[in-house]
Amino acid sequence: MVGALTVVGGGAVGLTCALAAADRGWSVRVIDAGPRRRAADVAGGMLGCFAEGRPGEDRLLQIARASVDGWPDLLARLGDPDLSVAADTLLVAASSADLDELTRQVDFLADRIPGGADRLPRMTARQLRAAEPALSRTVAGGFRAIGEGAVDNRRLIAALDRALVAAGATVANGEVTDLDALPGDRILVAAGLGVRRLVPSVDVRGEKGEILRLARTWWSVPPPDHVVRARWHGRVVYVVPRADGVVVGATQYEAFDDDDRTPSAGGVADLLADAGELMPSLRTYELTEVAAGIRPSSPDGIPIVEQIDDRVIVAAGHGRNGIALAPWTAARFVELLDTSDDC
Ligand SMILES: Cc1cc2nc3c(=O)[nH]c(=O)nc-3n(C[C@H](O)[C@H](O)[C@H](O)COP(=O)(O)OP(=O)(O)OC[C@H]3O[C@@H](n4cnc5c(N)ncnc54)[C@H](O)[C@@H]3O)c2cc1C
Repeated sequence: MVGALTVVGGGAVGLTCALAAADRGWSVRVIDAGPRRRAADVAGGMLGCFAEGRPGEDRLLQIARASVDGWPDLLARLGDPDLSVAADTLLVAASSADLDELTRQVDFLADRIPGGADRLPRMTARQLRAAEPALSRTVAGGFRAIGEGAVDNRRLIAALDRALVAAGATVANGEVTDLDALPGDRILVAAGLGVRRLVPSVDVRGEKGEILRLARTWWSVPPPDHVVRARWHGRVVYVVPRADGVVVGATQYEAFDDDDRTPSAGGVADLLADAGELMPSLRTYELTEVAAGIRPSSPDGIPIVEQIDDRVIVAAGHGRNGIALAPWTAARFVELLDTSDDC
């Protein structure tokens, strides 16, 4: 046994880091305040690397690429064949203006990713509709992001919980208010937005977003095989497959209250309107869940994985990519654990 580690926060980041530590022989205890305040519970589960790459975000793109490369090992470690819900993403534009915008983004990426142009082939409207027949007849064109998949976020949390228990860790429900009162040689604070109260020196802000879950009915067409991410008349909308339906997301705007997870009518209306135009057959699905979550974001968009003092490490601020970035974060976290263990 290397030592005892207490992890505060049982979201995608905390659990993935906890598992990496348990696999290295640490005695791990996770304490989590529950799903209501967990961004990972509402997320789409996209493993964004290309589609998330935006001009000016070179460092984030580098981190995202490293993390996406870590996903096959994590999926193999978790051993749930139904965790992965899509292997590729279709990037779709509604109009020629949207296609210009998408092309600028893809050009930025193609220059920075080895083999970038081959991994982001352009697709005509006809090719897009052949790949995903439920797409609107009006799409202007787009790209395929090869290897940019998605996982079922809730299955992921359940699989991580199971793997941790099987590795001898404990996962307990509870709200931590005082880090000094916690047992353990080391403490990881991976409490998402909750890090603000526990380690006030860490600068994390909230970005709220609405997201919907739609279930397939017996008379509707099956869910798509791909993640479909669209620029739809200037707005962004995505459709992520699930075994029984789709997740439609997501709006993004500044959250003024850490506890405000009430969906706004306007956000829900925009998502329903855009998804219904992008894939008209989704209108026959049942609207089973309307939710809002708050992305815990760092000021520069780069996840914060750092040592606060001899005992405490923080992993937070993953913004819109915390699930995708979990393997990179866990690798960086165990590096810090190893370094602090040598001291
Ligand atoms: C609408 C929406 C869509 C998204 N889609 C995607 C996507 O497709 N792909 C992607 O990669 N990312 C996506 N994200 C972002 C992703 O969900 C977050 O980046 C990620 O969940 C952050 O993980 P985390 O573990 O740091 O925080 P969280 O998932 O928020 O988990 C933090 C945990 O800490 C617990 N906690 C908080 N305070 C305390 C305390 N004091 N004591 C004990 N426990 C505490 C909470 O209960 C919670 O369980 C999305 C987010 C939103 C809101």
